[in-house]
Amino acid sequence: MSSAATNVRLATPSIFTRTFMLGIMGTLSMYLTSWENSDRVRDNYLDKHRDYGDTFDFIIVGGGTAGSILANRLSEDYKVLMLEAGGDPHPFQRVPLLSNWLLQYSQLDWKHITMPQKQAFKGSTQSRASISQGRGLGGTSNLDYMMYLRGHPKDFDEWADLTKDSSWSYDSVLKYFKSLEQYSGPWEGEYHGDSGEMRIKRPAYTGLGERFCHAAQQNGYPQVDLNGPFVEGCDILTYPTKKGYRDSVHSSFLRKIKDHWNLAIHKYAHVNKILIKGDENRAKGVEYDRHGKAQVAYATKEIIVTAGAIQTAKILMLSGIGQRAELDSLGIPVIADLPVGKRLQDHLSVYLGPFFVDTGASLDIDRDVSAGAALSLARDNGPLTTTGFQAAAVISSGLEKLHGGRNWPDLQLTMYGLSHHKSADEDFSHAYHLKKDLLKTYFEHSKGSDSFSIVVSGGRPKSSGTVKLLNRNPYAPLIINPNYFDKVYDLVVMVDGVKKAIRLVENSTVFHDINARLTNEVLPGCETFRFRSDAYWECYVKTMSVSFGNVAGTAAMGSVVDSNMRVIGLKGLRVMDASIMPSIVSTSTGAAVMMIAEKGADLLLKQWQGTQTEGGLLKDTNLVLTKIKENASKMKGTIDSSKAFLETLKLAGSNPDAALEQIDMEDLKKLTQSVGSLAAILGPARCPS
Ligand SMILES: Cc1cc2nc3c(=O)[nH]c(=O)nc-3n(C[C@H](O)[C@H](O)[C@H](O)COP(=O)(O)OP(=O)(O)OC[C@H]3O[C@@H](n4cnc5c(N)ncnc54)[C@H](O)[C@@H]3O)c2cc1C
Repeated sequence: MSSAATNVRLATPSIFTRTFMLGIMGTLSMYLTSWENSDRVRDNYLDKHRDYGDTFDFIIVGGGTAGSILANRLSEDYKVLMLEAGGDPHPFQRVPLLSNWLLQYSQLDWKHITMPQKQAFKGSTQSRASISQGRGLGGTSNLDYMMYLRGHPKDFDEWADLTKDSSWSYDSVLKYFKSLEQYSGPWEGEYHGDSGEMRIKRPAYTGLGERFCHAAQQNGYPQVDLNGPFVEGCDILTYPTKKGYRDSVHSSFLRKIKDHWNLAIHKYAHVNKILIKGDENRAKGVEYDRHGKAQVAYATKEIIVTAGAIQTAKILMLSGIGQRAELDSLGIPVIADLPVGKRLQDHLSVYLGPFFVDTGASLDIDRDVSAGAALSLARDNGPLTTTGFQAAAVISSGLEKLHGGRNWPDLQLTMYGLSHHKSADEDFSHAYHLKKDLLKTYFEHSKGSDSFSIVVSGGRPKSSGTVKLLNRNPYAPLIINPNYFDKVYDLVVMVDGVKKAIRLVENSTVFHDINARLTNEVLPGCETFRFRSDAYWECYVKTMSVSFGNVAGTAAMGSVVDSNMRVIGLKGLRVMDASIMPSIVSTSTGAAVMMIAEKGADLLLKQWQGTQTEGGLLKDTNLVLTKIKENASKMKGTIDSSKAFLETLKLAGSNPDAALEQIDMEDLKKLTQSVGSLAAILGPARCPS
């Protein structure tokens, strides 16, 4: 077994920490604003030289995790418009270790704030939870913690039961998980894909991950493939990662097709509502704002909403799809009376710790993240390749075993292998809106000492909440109330999870070897409870609660959409993101969202098979010419021959003989050059041969 100490450790002075973490981060907000402004200006300028028209086969609303995968799949055969409110992801977001430092910046994050929570988030200002959501191409996959966990097989079997559609069972959805992945690791085989776009593997730096799983084994949780069939167990986390960097859906699915001639990506396009043709109950278009102008686009086939569990609910409600009483009260004409925003679920989480360990055993960014670490990252090595989350044990609570007995885990314990660095209180407070003074007092004794935390997350909460409109303004914040711990059951499960996490550490020789011990410091606000009693842990989880942004279920299958993800009662409108989960998966939600998109693309391609507009990829000559003109400098003067080529192909669609007559050898030569240039620009796979 290797330990953190056997990972690459860098003794060079912490230039990186001081200049990058503190220097740049100190002015990060200003820097991100100027970076975003320049991206906007560039986008606005380029847009003036493009004319994609306003009518498409499909419109995708939201270019995030699900939207990017759909854009990739659908644009192979159809003319697709993808509308995304944000811009390009920032290059810093590709560095895994920076994940926790890049939350809550409005340029990259929607920064949702909930209503005050009655039973949780007592350590947050006004007991309001902050829920991060990625803004920009790639969405939340740009800022999440990269833990690639699909959920438990029983989660999907439950979806099949709830929707009465066996195509959602684990056995049926497995092929979609696999087709997305290019997995490499110890579990290669029937449960993993090897030829998908997303590179899934363990990061180079796994810190205390091995030790954590070894301890889990000593406590009866075997090392298992958490992305295969399992009952309970532990594993080193795999990430979507390429050469040490984050492999978000932007880098794996979008970047290489962004210039594809069938795909128009409109950044900085804020969608306000879906337009429904009343007499037919059919979604026909979308209204959006872009670069200061109100715009409309139309879809001849379908509109797919993928704006994430919170924003999707908002767009639907603004479009008249929601609960009648609520829409009536805001004066929004009701198109479909459906319970939108009603089953919001999230995984409430707490950082449990610190657990102190011997010097050098954990990752201390003040000490270990140096200029050398940045160089290591370039070589797919070193501490910058971890988000800090190194291994997970997915296990069942005592309550689940007592009442359920279904071998269906309801707790995720995740090893977070970072010590409390010098500014940990401020950084955690910024990332999660926990009160600064609370963290300052609680972290005071641990700063600078080697330690780790275990994040305890409730996997299958019984509590659920709501998202409602505040008013009819598409830019207004929402009324979000997740009702965390509304059901006492969830609190009992969390306390059990905390105790199991402590036992895992204290009841193991491997943690004993590095002198691991839970802090004796009492959490401010919980002094009246006996330290380490159940009542103390209740106070702890109610105070230190954070959201890991795993929001789901606001347009659930079975109540808002059917099992083919079509909005019930309407034509031409589907939802394909975290909103449609009929019950939240028991581990992190990102991989399940990707599967939803992959399955959704398959459904759409099958449904519309054979309906590509005549001429296939080349159906819209103007669009192709626009693409060619955009790339004129790369085309080396072949625009005219390309035009002739396209005209000939168009003719070939209706009269191949006449087209052949038009081509002489000289034309053919030009044509070959054109195809070569097109291939260079559009990618050989997408270019007609
Ligand atoms: C801090 C954090 C850590 C996480 N860690 C993990 C993890 O380690 N592993 C994991 O599996 N999951 C994790 N998750 C959850 C996971 O990332 C999400 O479940 C998943 O990415 C959601 O995908 P989505 O497609 O539903 O939404 P998103 O990816 O959020 O995509 C929605 C897109 O729509 C755009 N949009 C929204 N409104 C509009 C509008 N009006 N007009 C135009 N565009 C709009 C947004 O800008 C965004 O790009 C984490 C989440 C957070 C917040």
